[in-house]
Amino acid sequence: MKQLIDISKELFESKQVGYIIGYAEDKFKRVKPFVAYSSLDTERFVFNNNSVNNLAVYLTRLPKAKEGKIGIVAKGCDIKSIIALIQENQIKRDDVIIIGVNCNSVVNQIDEQFSKENTAIKCKYCQVRTPAHYDYLVGEIKEVELPEDKNFAIMQKLDSMSAEEKWNFWEAEFEKCVKCYACRQVCPLCYCEQCIVDKSMPRWIDSSATTKGNFAWNMIRAFHLSGRCIGCNECERACPAEIPLSLLNRKMGMVAINEFNYRHGTDINQPTLIGNYNVNDKEDFIM
Ligand code: SF4
Ligand code: SF4
Ligand code: SF4
Repeated sequence: MKQLIDISKELFESKQVGYIIGYAEDKFKRVKPFVAYSSLDTERFVFNNNSVNNLAVYLTRLPKAKEGKIGIVAKGCDIKSIIALIQENQIKRDDVIIIGVNCNSVVNQIDEQFSKENTAIKCKYCQVRTPAHYDYLVGEIKEVELPEDKNFAIMQKLDSMSAEEKWNFWEAEFEKCVKCYACRQVCPLCYCEQCIVDKSMPRWIDSSATTKGNFAWNMIRAFHLSGRCIGCNECERACPAEIPLSLLNRKMGMVAINEFNYRHGTDINQPTLIGNYNVNDKEDFIM
């Protein structure tokens, strides 16, 4: 992608960045996260339907650049997590240069050819194929055929269930959890230095994969992400147990919109929902 490489080279040559987080192909032609530390490295940059990873996770994992800012190549959905990190005071807007990409959807299964059937469901209801916020914008929007939003029907079915039926549904799903914490590791908004699940004095959550411990882990993670999850679906994609975490995340996002008219990761100047208590907040959603 010439435009992306040209901008990245210019950022290095003008000494504006210390490194740029982007995507490159490995020797098996799989698109993976790649950090360019020089103008020459940027020649490996690619962006296509296989550029699935949300690279914003590295903004709190990698050390600061010794000189210059951190550059990042980001799709519209991933830029929401960059904005969320700025809203939550984890990074400063002035410390990052965002190379936004016009996005024509990404694959669901990374080892299969991109097609309507093999498109991530989040792309069906995406509103940011052209990112809402960036320093540079590359790529062109093309017409794409999008898959059916199968999750919406499942969410409606879940909504119509009794509390006991919902409990049974999620207990059966969480039963499958193997406590690998891949969901936490890929999440750009799981950045605590010490996660509650790793605390042993006192131990709040059973570290072995038991029904009770699994339920506690997944519910605590959901609570910690409520009003904060930006719906990149990386946690569901990473989950080896195929737990439909996106149903939970999307539901939490919908509650934030419907009850508080709040969408996290859309406005760097907006106070966070969780950090902005208002005595007039609606409470009728609390059962
Ligand atoms: S949700 Fe939108 S920005 Fe994100 S990968 Fe899909 S189409 Fe691209
Ligand atoms: S909880 Fe999942 S969907 Fe939400 S921001 Fe984290 S990785 Fe993305
Ligand atoms: S990625 Fe899936 S299996 Fe692993 S801890 Fe998270 S929910 Fe459990």
